[in-house]
Amino acid sequence: MDTKQLKDVFQQHYGTPDAIYSSPGRINLIGEHTDYNGGFVLPGAIDKGITLAIKANGTDKVRVFSLDYNETAEFGMTEADKPAQSWAKYIFGVVREIEKRGKTVKGFDAAFYGDVPLGAGLSSSAALESAFAFALNDIYALGLKRYDLALIGQATEHNYVGVKCGIMDQFISIFGKKGRLLSLDCRSLNYEFVPFDPAGYKLVLIDSCVKHELVNNPYNRRRESCEAVVAAIRKHHHPYVQFLRDATFEMLEEVKDEVSAEDYMRAEFVIGEVQRLLDACAALEKGDYKTVGQKMYETHTGLSKLYEVSCEELDFLNDCAKKYGVTGSRIMGGGFGGCTINLVEDAKYDAFISGTVADYKAKFSIDPKVYDVVISDGARKIE
Ligand code: ADP
Ligand code: MG
Repeated sequence: MDTKQLKDVFQQHYGTPDAIYSSPGRINLIGEHTDYNGGFVLPGAIDKGITLAIKANGTDKVRVFSLDYNETAEFGMTEADKPAQSWAKYIFGVVREIEKRGKTVKGFDAAFYGDVPLGAGLSSSAALESAFAFALNDIYALGLKRYDLALIGQATEHNYVGVKCGIMDQFISIFGKKGRLLSLDCRSLNYEFVPFDPAGYKLVLIDSCVKHELVNNPYNRRRESCEAVVAAIRKHHHPYVQFLRDATFEMLEEVKDEVSAEDYMRAEFVIGEVQRLLDACAALEKGDYKTVGQKMYETHTGLSKLYEVSCEELDFLNDCAKKYGVTGSRIMGGGFGGCTINLVEDAKYDAFISGTVADYKAKFSIDPKVYDVVISDGARKIE
């Protein structure tokens, strides 16, 4: 699919579009399970996203055509008008969240397609929300800041989709820049760009294509462990420690006998992860991709052995990366399935991909999927 096809389809349905916009999915290089611990994440926008054509239609109705689902949704713009199609809820939510901020969106026609794999951990939903938020802000000159647009996407997930996500995905989809990662402080929402232009390397995701059933809500239990350790540390004359992000290994040592062995391991991972992200940023500033890769492997080990959110398939993919001499590799996302993210030297790329695909298939009888990604610009008008 390309913008020419998009324009042709738009023409058939609605006439000539006013403009074309695009907004990307994302990767996160390092910084896992740090967001709810008040720490940092290091996402980058990718060269895969949602592209839409749009035109004001002078009514109070929205008509949208999804090229990928080959389906139209039509809905009004009041709270009672929530559409039936699940993909259209993201667009409806964006309209509603803009209105809640005191801005008026009028009726429009749109058509869109995407090339972010759905549900693979690359945040196709944030790409969809961001593309529409950015486009509506632009065509109706609403004067919303990029920051507001990210919050509108997040609020859409919370209020119209039922996913209680953090801000990272929408933030990077809106703010992303080519050749830059974004170090985002999840407590203050301050951010800084960090150079990422690894000449001689490729960034590639290997999708394990498994999603393990989560029993006893392991994510909630991880959060509870983090909170328990924070509470113990605060009692030790460190009242300013609000999140594990503020804690040090020395503080953790002080409370070793007061927290469970499990809680200790969880905190050991998080405190280490906050530091690894800072170390990776320092290495990126110097263009030292070997160190970045080493930090990625350390994160994987921590997620697997201390935080215990890996699984057989992801550990196997990480071992494949080591076997084929990959510079850095780790689980990307919450764990228990999904993708590994790999930083691979160009010369080792072909052997790594063909070897890993064959090894994984032989072991699990599943064909893993491979997604090459290039760090690219965030939400933008294309024409
Ligand atoms: P992800 O991790 O990719 O964000 P989600 O489950 O949060 O996974 O979002 C996927 C949903 O977003 C899809 O089920 C669909 O409703 C919507 N979506 C994403 N990309 C597209 C697309 N290209 N066309 C239509 N809907 C899409
Ligand atoms: Mg999503």
